[in-house]
This record gives sequence, C-alpha cells and structure tokens, in this order.
Amino acid sequence: LKVRGAKVVVQDMVKHFETRRGLFKAVNGASVDMEPGTITALLGPSGSGKTTLLRLIAGLEEPTAGRVFFDGEDITGRSVPDRDLGFVFQGYALFKHMTVADNITFGPRMRKMGLDLEAKVEELLQLTELEGLGGRYPPQLSGGQKQRVAVARALACNPRLLLLDEPFGALDPVVRKSLRHGLRDIVRRVGVTTIIVTHDQEEAWDIADHVVIFNKGAIEQHGTPEEVAKEPMSPFVMNFVGDVS
Ligand code: ADP
Repeated sequence: LKVRGAKVVVQDMVKHFETRRGLFKAVNGASVDMEPGTITALLGPSGSGKTTLLRLIAGLEEPTAGRVFFDGEDITGRSVPDRDLGFVFQGYALFKHMTVADNITFGPRMRKMGLDLEAKVEELLQLTELEGLGGRYPPQLSGGQKQRVAVARALACNPRLLLLDEPFGALDPVVRKSLRHGLRDIVRRVGVTTIIVTHDQEEAWDIADHVVIFNKGAIEQHGTPEEVAKEPMSPFVMNFVGDVS
C-alpha cells in the first residue's frame, strides 16, 4: 500500500456558528500548508477549534469564509474527493456488529471499488499488526487494537489524505506512546498526507513533522517541533517546553 500523498492548502479559513448567545467564532482566519506525505499536528487546548478545522478540511462543515485546495484544486464547500479521504473519528466509531475484516472493507464495499477484499484485509491487518484478528468483533478487542482497526479502515480505499481526531484519546499513556510510533511508521510507509488533532503536546512533538498551534480559533504559531520549541510564542507551549527541560 503506497500512495501519492496530497498537497493540502488551507487559506484564511473562518467558521462561525450561530448560537443562542450570538455568533461563536470557532475558527477565525486559519491558513496552513500541508506537504505531501507529511504529518501535521493541530495542537491546542480543548475548545480552540481544532476539530472544526479538521471537519472543514474534510468538507464535513461549510466554511463561513476561506478556501481549501487539494493538489491545487479548489474544493471549498465540497468534500475531499471521496476515495482520497480517510477519517479516524474520536472514539473510532467502529461497527460493533461487524467483524474486524468487515469493518476494514466497509469503504471499498460501499464504493464498489472492485478490490480483492481478502487481499486488502490481509495487507491492512499486517500493516497495523493485527494479523489473525480479522474474525473478531470490536467489543472483543483492546483499546489499542480498536484504534488500529480504525486506522486500517481509514486506509482501505488508498486515501491520499488521512485525518485523525484525537486518535489516542481514550488510551493509557504506555499504549499511547507505542501506538503513535506505530502510526508514524504506517504513515511513512504508505506516504499519505496526515493531519492529527491533539491536545497533548508531547504527542505532537513525537509524531509530527509540522506543528500548528491553535488558540481561540486562530493559529498562534506553526513550524517544525524544533522551530517551535526553540522560540515558543504560545503560553500553551512554553509550559510544556519548561516541563521537559
Ligand atoms: P477543539 O477540537 O479544539 O476541542 P472544536 O473545534 O471541537 O475545538 O470546538 C471549538 C468550539 O466551537 C467549541 O467551543 C464548540 O463548542 C464550538 N462548536 C463546535 N461545533 C459547533 C456547532 N455545530 N455549533 C455551535 N458551536 C460549535
């Protein structure tokens, strides 16, 4: 499984929600470039607009203003071309009544992609180190195994963009660490452009090529983990850098 990762460009993205207490500015002018095959972490405190930006990129939300380009094509207000997008939702949203294998092949079956489904399952079980578990049901799996099924399912249509919303959220710290190294290896091997939403600084530093720091709907700073750690401009990062040194 090898793909040509997409180049994704977000320009001046704005999303306002109408609420009972007036207009809520969830994302307020965010611009960011994602290079093919790289991992970008959207990092910031809870409620800072990370998930909203992820959903805007996926086309699951209509932007108030701003543009999204997928390999140079303006796809604003539409979703990413169907098969090109893999999404790992918070909590994974696996189908409990389907086997692991059927969870994984759900996308290709729905889209009638005409793949050799058995071969696809074997390939993905191997990639995510779940060999032999294709016949199990999600409730029979550990948290880490469920997470890997969600990643395998998201990769089943050979997407060129992989979006993950707090993919390690519900797991204990030891599992989190080994899984994020696993995920990094998978992304490297597959070549898919990847965006991860997280509120965990250590995680962002460990996994990402590029870190985008969000606060109150705006990007406070972005760069490689080294660049950001060298000259942190957000109190959110300063605390973290102080903690590890
Ligand atoms: P994060 O992922 O950084 O925790 P979110 O993007 O989920 O932040 O949410 C940012 C803010 O936008 C939150 O305060 C949330 O309540 C608000 N929000 C998200 N979706 C909606 C919606 N559909 N209607 C109103 N407010 C929303």
